[in-house]
Amino acid sequence: MSDSLHLIDFHRNCFTITADGNGEHKTFLIPSNNGKEPNKVRLFCSCSKKGYARCENAQKLQEIYTSCFKETGHLSPTNDFEKSFFYLLIEPVTRFLTDSVFSIKVIQSENQVTVINQQKREFFRYYSAEDDCERLISRISPAALSRFTLMNMAAEFVLSEQERTLLALGHKTGRQVIEDGFWYRLAYHCYREYDVKDCRIEPVIDKNSGAFSLHLSIAGKLKLSADIPPPAVPFILQVLMNNKMADGLQVNKDETELYFRIWKKENEVCIGPVVKGIKDSPVDIDSRFIYGSYLYIPEYNRYFVLSYPSLKLAATGLCTVRKVKKEEFSSFLEKEEERLSFESQSGSEGTVALDLFANSQARGFGRVLHPVFIESFDRIELKLIDMVEKDCILSVSYCAGNLAVSLAEIIDQKKKKNRFILTDNGIIDLASEKISSALIMAKGLKGGEITLSKAALLQLRGTSLSTRIHGEEKLVSRIREMLEFKPLKSIEPFKGLKCTLREYQKLSVQWLFFLYDNHFGGLLCDEMGLGKTIQIITFLLGIREQRSFEGAFLVVCPTSVISHWEKLLKMFTPSLKVMIYHTSGRESLLNESYDLLLTSYGILRNDYLKLAGINFDVAVFDEVHQLKNKETLSFQAAVGINARMKIGLTGTPVQNRVSDLKSLFDLVLPGLLGRESIQDEQYLNLLEQGNTVETHRLKRMISPFIMRRLKETVLKELPEKIEDIRSCKLSDEQQLIYNAAVKERGGSIIEQLKSSDSPIPYMHIFALFSFLKQVCDHPALAAGKPEAYELYSSGKWDLFTELLDESLESGQKVVVFSQFVGMVEIIGHYLQKRGVGYVSLTGSSKKRERIIQRFAEDNQCRVFVGSLMAGGVGIDLVAGSVVIHYDRWWNFAREDQATDRVHRIGQKSVVQVFKLMTEGTLEEQVDRVIERKRSLSQQTLVEDSPDTLKIFSREELVELLSGSTEFAN
Ligand SMILES: [Zn+2]
Repeated sequence: MSDSLHLIDFHRNCFTITADGNGEHKTFLIPSNNGKEPNKVRLFCSCSKKGYARCENAQKLQEIYTSCFKETGHLSPTNDFEKSFFYLLIEPVTRFLTDSVFSIKVIQSENQVTVINQQKREFFRYYSAEDDCERLISRISPAALSRFTLMNMAAEFVLSEQERTLLALGHKTGRQVIEDGFWYRLAYHCYREYDVKDCRIEPVIDKNSGAFSLHLSIAGKLKLSADIPPPAVPFILQVLMNNKMADGLQVNKDETELYFRIWKKENEVCIGPVVKGIKDSPVDIDSRFIYGSYLYIPEYNRYFVLSYPSLKLAATGLCTVRKVKKEEFSSFLEKEEERLSFESQSGSEGTVALDLFANSQARGFGRVLHPVFIESFDRIELKLIDMVEKDCILSVSYCAGNLAVSLAEIIDQKKKKNRFILTDNGIIDLASEKISSALIMAKGLKGGEITLSKAALLQLRGTSLSTRIHGEEKLVSRIREMLEFKPLKSIEPFKGLKCTLREYQKLSVQWLFFLYDNHFGGLLCDEMGLGKTIQIITFLLGIREQRSFEGAFLVVCPTSVISHWEKLLKMFTPSLKVMIYHTSGRESLLNESYDLLLTSYGILRNDYLKLAGINFDVAVFDEVHQLKNKETLSFQAAVGINARMKIGLTGTPVQNRVSDLKSLFDLVLPGLLGRESIQDEQYLNLLEQGNTVETHRLKRMISPFIMRRLKETVLKELPEKIEDIRSCKLSDEQQLIYNAAVKERGGSIIEQLKSSDSPIPYMHIFALFSFLKQVCDHPALAAGKPEAYELYSSGKWDLFTELLDESLESGQKVVVFSQFVGMVEIIGHYLQKRGVGYVSLTGSSKKRERIIQRFAEDNQCRVFVGSLMAGGVGIDLVAGSVVIHYDRWWNFAREDQATDRVHRIGQKSVVQVFKLMTEGTLEEQVDRVIERKRSLSQQTLVEDSPDTLKIFSREELVELLSGSTEFAN
């Protein structure tokens, strides 16, 4: 029976019988009605004209069909075949290879059949010399009467309508193409010839070529071997496992990621793929052993399944060892950054499909296992070679663990625009923010040695990396002291200093000495109220006493604060010989001897050429933020001054505005921030666009040369209330009005006072005093035109606006008192024009509560302006921390009461109190007389009236009037 079974073949549900020798009968059988009625079949034969009943071939076919297929229930044999193990095993190959029967070549030798594909590559071997071998050859041969040909003809009986139409147009469906193929026929052959239970199927990998083949053997005898295209391998292994045909096959369940390893080889750098094998140790992989998503590792005789992203990566050609020339390595890495970054596994299959088209923006080198990427250093090693006046010559190495790279190398690579440096212990990424900001700027480079200015060396402090210094002991200790901001020579106590400095003030004086000794300049930016002026004059006195001082000091400040400087210099450092260079006819003063020349920015601009011809030792620029615009004449004049050291003073927090800082440093420490390769403007643009690396670098560069303390941070050293009497001078205009009033009205009053018989004319004196005080405040006030304040000039006004600006810039709220309602109005007009939020309170104000509440709660309300009578009692102004008394009251008690509106329970900051006073006027005289009568003045005088004057004796009133007359002249 089984022999006769071998005579027939089927295609879909059309049966055929192996033709007779001459091809007279080509016979086909199709079960009727899909085999539901077993006895009804349709028969066709090429001899059909004689009638099927007479065709022996047809009868034989029907007989075998009936006895074998019908009875065994194989009514639809193709269905059975396409569910069979062999079909499932071989089907995956047909997805990747068609190998049409018409394109292959079959070579038969004594007991072996070999099949060669169109590319002339042998891919199939069959080891048998028996009948089954004949049948195989017949099934895969398109020869005239072969089984293949008959089955092909059978196919024509069972085409669907659609297939028939397509075929008429010259097309085949995918199913037809597969059915015509070698692999389909091979599966069919195995299905017909072997019982799965007898077979052993074994995947075999060629260790040299990586070729994957399946071996089929029966009873220990190899029957066939077929080479499998790599992408089909995972499917085939899956079929073997599903059917428990995979003895000894090991596949890791977890997905594996593809990584890379980088190593040097002579003049090349190699990048090779690895996976984390057992215990995470990297295993080199060989692209020959990648089969679709499966990766075979011979050492472990085990398959690993690549994750989807890794698979995508492998498909881009990175799965073989790439070699690049050393000098091209950096640009190679940069180009490959996206691919070498770690892209995590996508979620569901749906997203995987979408992901194929996603434009990933991944960055980093998460897929590089070795060597590590170095994105920050942990220390800097310096080898000091020499030190000349302003420069150090050294070799600098940046280190991270075992890795060390010289600054010279880094600079060299940066010049070549290389982002990466490959060392044995890591790959340095120069673009990483931490590294980039740790780099310091070098002045010159020669044979691995670097020349750094001392100023640039101080950048090291700001890198926050620990610094180890090697070299000759003497040089090393000098550098250490410098890095610790110590002066080169110790500082002794100052003999000529008439005050005691607070600790933080001593610290800044030491810092100033450090700058001086090392030929640096700097910015002292302490918040207002911390005594910048005292610190500077102490420092200047110290230079005079303890250093070989060459040339005089120059102090340039706004006109409004000249008096303040003058007063402090006189009071605290009387041994310094001060020359005020501010009046007309001043030129001759330059020929006299002096230690310190005090002048204003106006004079600096005017007398620029004369001043530029002098060699100063130290030049101090007060309120230096006014010089931030490089285009101004003031800036250029300041730059033109010759001085060993230049210092800027400001209470404005300039360090938050890097571009302003740049110009200030160009003044006090030229060259520190100069960059040869980048034009100033471009550099500023970088900063203004918020380039963090550049901003960070700039801040670090300047940090040694800038000192700013806030009241908050030195709070412990400060009293709760700092009182400061700030003096100023009358403007020329004020002086004229003042003199005229004293002359016209003062003379007769003095006459009257001197004759003891006459009553004291309190009314007249009070009226004159009141007028003179208004002139000191603001000529617009005396003229009764508060709204036209801009048309007049006032020394006190200039000083006031200076202090107000500084306070507002430092974020504090300000409380201003004046005894004149008109002055309150002027300040109101001014604040309105400047767009500064404020409230004002005078005797005529309504809704006092609301005004006070707004100052307390509204952050935009920055200033409270009140008349002393209305605002000085019974209210709470603790939101303010700066109090300015625009003018003086007749007694201290009244002033103190007003101050206490701010300095009281609820106040959390140090309260800074400024009392403004005009030198050489009644204001100064009153101050002096009142100081003598301090106990008397403690009485509370409620009203501002001529009676107030009764606290003065006749003689004192004469002194007040004549004194001011004298000053006025
Ligand atoms: Zn026939």
